[in-house]
Amino acid sequence: VSSVEATQAHLDRIAAVDGEIHAFLHVNAGALDEARRIDERRAAGEQLHELAGAPVAIKDVLCTIGMPSTSGSRILEGWVPPYDATPVARLKAAGLVALGKTNMDEFAMGSSTEHSAYGPTRNPWDRERIPGGSGGGSAAAVAAFEAPFALGSDTGGSIRQPAAVTGSVGVKPTYGGVSRYGAIALASSLDQVGPVSRTVLDSALIHDVIGGHDPHDSTSLQREWPSFAAAAREGAAAGSLQGLKVGVIRELDSEGIAPDVHARFQEAVRLIEGAGGEVVEVSVPSIEYAVAAYYLILPAEASSNLARFDSVRFGLRVERPGQTVEDVMAASREAGFGAEVKRRIILGTYALSAGYYDAYYGSAQQVRTLIQRDFDAAFAQVDLLVSPAAPTTAFRFGEKVGDPLAMYANDITTIPANLAGIPGMALPMGLGDDGLPVGLQLLAPLFEDARLYRAGATIE
Ligand code: GLN
Repeated sequence: VSSVEATQAHLDRIAAVDGEIHAFLHVNAGALDEARRIDERRAAGEQLHELAGAPVAIKDVLCTIGMPSTSGSRILEGWVPPYDATPVARLKAAGLVALGKTNMDEFAMGSSTEHSAYGPTRNPWDRERIPGGSGGGSAAAVAAFEAPFALGSDTGGSIRQPAAVTGSVGVKPTYGGVSRYGAIALASSLDQVGPVSRTVLDSALIHDVIGGHDPHDSTSLQREWPSFAAAAREGAAAGSLQGLKVGVIRELDSEGIAPDVHARFQEAVRLIEGAGGEVVEVSVPSIEYAVAAYYLILPAEASSNLARFDSVRFGLRVERPGQTVEDVMAASREAGFGAEVKRRIILGTYALSAGYYDAYYGSAQQVRTLIQRDFDAAFAQVDLLVSPAAPTTAFRFGEKVGDPLAMYANDITTIPANLAGIPGMALPMGLGDDGLPVGLQLLAPLFEDARLYRAGATIE
């Protein structure tokens, strides 16, 4: 198929179902023109990337030239960035065609997209249920065949959990593996951009394009990465996990995991054994404190990052004659931020305030170090760790949105990887008792993202 045909097919699909799904906040009016140019270049004999001409959806947390980038917030309504985020620029350079921007919880805070200022996204499997979050739009777009793949961002699970509850594949790369330049920051020490797709190989192909060193991001790693697509193809061709030692994380296979998710997970473990993997149980004891530490570190960093939305340089401005600058800033932030964002700004500034800093932020950082050490110890015993990717299948709208602690607790399976910086993948492992997708999580040591793709492609 030509790029015009592929792009048109997806635009048609968006026109047909997105009124109901609401995966997109913005559809790229220039997509077909971009597709036509790729087709012309190919017709002229130019050697293009293997993904050139393929359409892709972009989470609205990423800055895009010519398309609004709101991060799901009113405070950035209508803002069109003057530059592309590096992952977006790299996709464009490889000839991929951006279909548009996908819905998300405001500033990526949430696990259901119910915190989007523009209304929730519906799960294509059951439209009364959440598609996960914060990147529910990207995962729903892939699951509803509105896009073959999408970009997301994962600070505490926002790629992996939506992938899990929509039956998709999602990858959080090693911290520093993909540039954060142009990704609207939530918590800078945790944020990573990564792919969502229907197959492991597709995620690998996208990761190969977006990854690698970027001088615009000071935390971007300077190292040579292997080809993740080659790793995925090797895994699929080998069809065996012979020689791979796999650890089941004891702390993520117990209370809080729904019985049907637990059952699917047991089956996945048997599948891994059947493929020749050696399975042992491994403990990562400090996981017990991961949610508590994360919900101090994240609000602390977020409160600092969100200080830039001052209504002066960009975004919403609410002003009346005679007001001071402080009045205008306060009124704009009052009108522009939703309840969850305000809650976390208050939590974060409190945790960072003089007299409390050591007790809260300092302790949380110590827990973070313990989690990193526990993972080091676990990976001294095994090559790969596994757990359920999310504690339950997709929950219903309204089920957790009024109870922040219940929403936060849902992140237990995904948060540890962000605190440790290690790479993680969610991939489908069957359906729950309610007929909804269940996700398996694979975790690898720092820099060993290729191991996820090799093993993921073997067992998918
Ligand atoms: N659900 C988590 C949170 O609300 C994860 C968010 C994310 O990864 N962006 O913080």
